[in-house]
Amino acid sequence: MAIRRSATKRHGLPSSVQLRLTPTPAQADAVTAAVLLCNQAATVISRLAWQHRVFAVVELHRLAYYEVRAQVAGTPTGRVTLPYTGRPEDLKAIDALPLGEADLICRHGVWLLQVALTLPHPAVREPVSGFMGADHGVANLAVTSDGAVLPGPALAGPVGGNGHVRTLRERRHRQRRRLQKKGTASARRVLRRLAGREHRMMTDLNHQISTYVVREAERTGRGVALEDLQGIRGRVRAHRLQRRTLHNWAFAQQITFTRYKTARAGIAFILVDPAYTSQACPDCGHISRANRPARGRFACQRCGLAGHADHIAARNIATRGIASWAAINQPHATGLPSPRRDRESKPPDSASGS
Ligand SMILES: [Zn+2]
Repeated sequence: MAIRRSATKRHGLPSSVQLRLTPTPAQADAVTAAVLLCNQAATVISRLAWQHRVFAVVELHRLAYYEVRAQVAGTPTGRVTLPYTGRPEDLKAIDALPLGEADLICRHGVWLLQVALTLPHPAVREPVSGFMGADHGVANLAVTSDGAVLPGPALAGPVGGNGHVRTLRERRHRQRRRLQKKGTASARRVLRRLAGREHRMMTDLNHQISTYVVREAERTGRGVALEDLQGIRGRVRAHRLQRRTLHNWAFAQQITFTRYKTARAGIAFILVDPAYTSQACPDCGHISRANRPARGRFACQRCGLAGHADHIAARNIATRGIASWAAINQPHATGLPSPRRDRESKPPDSASGS
């Protein structure tokens, strides 16, 4: 489970670097307090988002601003400047390249800063073989339109054989409930540690899933289509595990990871309308709630197509990806993949081969 991401190299440059921060004890206290408040604020916002079914950033900001100010007291102001160390090549990279987002992590008392580097993006290639869709079920689990259950070979098996992470999440959930009921100081400490661990586990899994999906799309000449998070508002198929705020956070992270990894690889990426992806038949187009006879199962009432519900949803997402791509690239949209730009994927300097 603990497969760590290694910084992928393209053009010989790292895409992200890790720095070790070396704060004084007082600075470490200040940073700890800031992180704690930040997490509290995120919890408040997350709860409001689900309560009001609002997931758009601007709306959410408007909605949450005063409540966060009211509930999260003592919001710190000012900035802390911290010294850091790192590998020589990483230090050189952060001096030379534009910096992207950074994750602040405290692991066993050691403060780390993972900084994403913004590399020049290649042009997006035409998805000559259509789109690959991925449906997100219970947090961090995805099923692709090809029927692969993710994350990766660690959880290989037939579609539906995704019990491992689910079991783990169920167990964590029960553990959390028990500790919350207990309510002692030590129980709260354990809770915080669990949250951190779960957060890291999910981030790792999201990296594995997005890396797989993007690599597979690249290999097969396809783009990547995911469901638009904002569309989730009205959806009815959320499993009780999915309703938890953590899932929503994980889904948003999955979109972010996939977006930047496709951009980095020059692969088309598109978010599609999630309405009825779980009830529509990808073969005959029949949409009905009756197409879902049992949780996790799909069986078309018109043409008889049957399969794992997440796989069917992923196929619908892939099909919508093609349609949406065609729609936004109107002048060339013929409804069929165009082989025109098939061989443009080589790096420019490989053509000159001297
Ligand atoms: Zn059908």
